[in-house]
Amino acid sequence: MAYDKRELLLIGGVLFFMIGLLGTGLPLIYSVVIAVAIYVGIKVFVGKRKQSLAKHLGQGICADCGSKLEGGKCHTCDANWRNDK
Ligand SMILES: [Zn+2]
Repeated sequence: MAYDKRELLLIGGVLFFMIGLLGTGLPLIYSVVIAVAIYVGIKVFVGKRKQSLAKHLGQGICADCGSKLEGGKCHTCDANWRNDK
C-alpha cells in the first residue's frame, strides 16, 4: 500500500510537471514525451536501486557491524568471537 501511494505521488508529480511545461508554452506532445521520459527514468532508477539493495541484503546484514552476511554468518564478527573464546 505504501508503494502504491508513492506511485500515485510520482504520477501526480509528473503530471504537475507536465502542466508546468504546458504553461511555458511548450507543445503538448513535447510535454507528454518529457513527462513520460521522467516517469520511466524514475521507475528504472528505483527498480535498479531496489534490485541492487535486494542483492546486497540477500543474506541479510550483521546487526552488530553492518557487514554483509555470508553463509548465514558475519565474517567480521565470527572472527572476533573466535578470538574471544
Ligand atoms: Zn558483524
